Order: sequence, then structure tokens, then C-alpha cells
Amino acid sequence: MSEEDVVAKAKRILADVPLCDRCLGRLFALLGYGWSNKERGDAIKRVIVMELHKKYRITGTLSEEDFKVLENIGGQALPLLRLIAPERAERLSAQGRRCAICSGELDSTIERAAREGLKLLRAYDIRKFVVGARVSEGVTRVEEDLKLRYGLAFSESLKAELRREVGKLIQKLDPSVEADFEEPEATLLVSFPEGNVDIQVNSLFLAGRYWKLGRLISQAYWPSPTGPRYFSVEQAAWGLLRLTGGERLVVHAAGREDVDARMLGTGRPLIVEIKAPRKRHLPLEKLESHANADSKGLVEFRFEKVARRRDVRLYKEESARLRKTYKALIVSLEEPLSGADLERLEREFSGRRVMQRTPRRVLHRRPDITRARTVYKIRCRRLLGEAVECLVLAEGGLYIKELVDGDAGRTTPSFSEVLGKALQCVELDVIGVEGPLGLGS
Ligand SMILES: [Zn+2]
Repeated sequence: MSEEDVVAKAKRILADVPLCDRCLGRLFALLGYGWSNKERGDAIKRVIVMELHKKYRITGTLSEEDFKVLENIGGQALPLLRLIAPERAERLSAQGRRCAICSGELDSTIERAAREGLKLLRAYDIRKFVVGARVSEGVTRVEEDLKLRYGLAFSESLKAELRREVGKLIQKLDPSVEADFEEPEATLLVSFPEGNVDIQVNSLFLAGRYWKLGRLISQAYWPSPTGPRYFSVEQAAWGLLRLTGGERLVVHAAGREDVDARMLGTGRPLIVEIKAPRKRHLPLEKLESHANADSKGLVEFRFEKVARRRDVRLYKEESARLRKTYKALIVSLEEPLSGADLERLEREFSGRRVMQRTPRRVLHRRPDITRARTVYKIRCRRLLGEAVECLVLAEGGLYIKELVDGDAGRTTPSFSEVLGKALQCVELDVIGVEGPLGLGS
């Protein structure tokens, strides 16, 4: 591009089509710094008017093409046209020229979309947002055509300008909201030329732990025609929906315990996802007390912080690496367990690798695979009668009921196999879920 190219090129384009300041400036958007495209386009137009005025002063005339350029420039050229060609000026102010790219709608669309967008942000308690844009094929085609025809290597798209300018104007209208590309709470979608604004509200994620103090409580809510079969951890948290006005709630936990197992002790890490909340900037204590309000004393929540979407994947991926401590109540279906039996179990299951094929009872929802898991340590004690209580510290993902009974040989070694006695785990509690959850803060 030679030195005179910007103005010469702009002049050639304007001999061809009318453009508003914004759309003309945008064709040279990457030249000059710290200006809006509107300022850029205005500047170019004024220089062209000056050049043509100079030509007129020297030669006393302008070509038909020069007049076309002035007419396509519009407002900036009007005073000069009134001076040298009043009848053309009259025609121009009567008819006007609509911008070939945006039909003169871009400015007003930015203004309207920003006001409309801000209303939506306020309705959903959003402080961090991004703007997206959908531009019609027709507009994009005219724009691309011009770029190709005139080799406009320093231009920007209308879409990019629309996104940026709406974002800037919203922040100017309300300095308490900010554009944030990293962790937006919502996306505003502006369509052009329709000028509609939609909002996509991101979920609110709360990271913490839960305790299940009763049995026969599932983690997820499973609706059925006759109502849910079990009370669920998810249902217990529904108080959060009332507080936040969210549409739906999903529990993402680091693993899960059986429906009939309690979750005691350390509690289990979880992230509660609240979809499309209308209120999100609430103190954690308030969120926590609402979550606990509906839980009937069967489930308890404690929230540590607001999490990010990518933390959900971390919780799920890392749950398998967490160490779990279980408390299992075991009975022998044959002769009672002796003190020697208990000592033997503690000895045999110290740092013991156990091969476990997917238990028969979960085969309907899990693939049939064999996994190796480590039992780090166990401690057993005899309770009243023949019942035995065992504390089991194991790698995440080991099925404890099957570790006890052997699941017809699918788990090996098992307590039953080692002692040669048919054993059964009649009650199970998870009392510890620990380990590094690599959650970014
Ligand atoms: Zn335009």
C-alpha cells in the first residue's frame, strides 16, 4: 500500500457505493490507533472533500465521478455541494444515500442493543458479560465483496465492530458491569440488521461438600410417573432454586455412594450447578442456609466457594483418585467370624490389589469391565453378637459390598474368599473422601 492509498482507495470505493462513517472507517480499521471507526470514516471523508474542493478551486470544475463521490459521502460534503452545485445538494438532502453495507442502521442498532442488553444483564444479576453477534448473510456478502474488490487488507468485520461497540457502550452506561472474556456470567447475542438481543445466562456453580445422614437417599433426582423413588441430594438442594430463581439444578459430585449408604465424616465434594439463575451475587452463607432448608435433616451442605464450569470436569475426573474410608457392617452367613479371622483380614488386605469385575447389581447401567483397585488398610472389630464392623481405606472406585461377599467370584480376592466363609455387608457408610482436588481458585 503506497502512502496515498487510503484516501485514493476510499475515493474509488465511494465512487462506487455510499457508505456511512462507521462502515467506511471499518474498511481501514487497522490503520490509526485509539479512534473509533466512526472517527476514522469521518476523517477520510473530510480529506476527500478537501481534495475535491482543491481540484475545483484549481480547475473550476469537477467530473461526474467526483460529484458521485461527494454525494456518496453525504453529510460532510453537503456544505460544499450547496456552494458549488446547489441543485445536487438539494436532491441529496431530500433523498439521502443509504449506506451500502448497513443501510445506515449500525449506529442506532449499537445504541439500542446496548440499552436492551443492559436491561437483560440487570434482570439476571449479571456483572460480567460478553457480546456475541449474528450478522445476516446479505450484509456479510456486501462487506466481503467490497473487501475482495478493493483489496482491503486492513479492514475489520461488522460483526467484530458490533460486538465491541455494544460491549463498550454497555460499560459506559453502567460502570458496574464489565466485559469479561475469561469468566463471563452471560452472553448477549445481538442480531443484525434485526437488532434483537438475546441473553444466554451461564450456570452458577457452587463448590462444597455434602453429607447424607439417612439411608435410601439417591444423589440425582430421578422423577418417575409415580414420583421419585428416593429422596435425593439434588432435591434436598432445591431451596437454592427458590433463592436464585434458577431454572434447574444439577449435582456434580466426586463419585457417589450407594443409595443405602450414608455419607458421613468428611462429607463428599460436590459442585451444585444452578442453571439460568436470576440472582447470583449472594453470600455463600445465605446460599448454604437455603440449600439446607429443604433437606429435612437428611442431607447437609456446606459451600466453600463459587466454582467455574471447568471445575466440574475436574471433580469428576479426580473423584477416582480420591481415597475413601468406609465403615462396613458385616455378618457371616455361616459360622461366626473368630478373632483369628479378623486378624487375617487385616493382614491380607494391607496394601492389597483387588481385581474387580463390574458388580452384577450395576451391570444394567455400567459396562462390564475388570478394574484393579487397592485396599490400603482395614481395621475390624467385633460388635455385639456376630456382627463385625470393618473400617476400609481404599482407592476410589472400589465396590465395598463386593469386596466383602466376592460377588460370585467377580471380585477377587474378597473377604469371603480369603476366609472361606460366606460373608455379607449389611450396612455401609462412607466416612471419608479425601485427597487433592486440583481445583483452581
Ligand atoms: Zn454503514
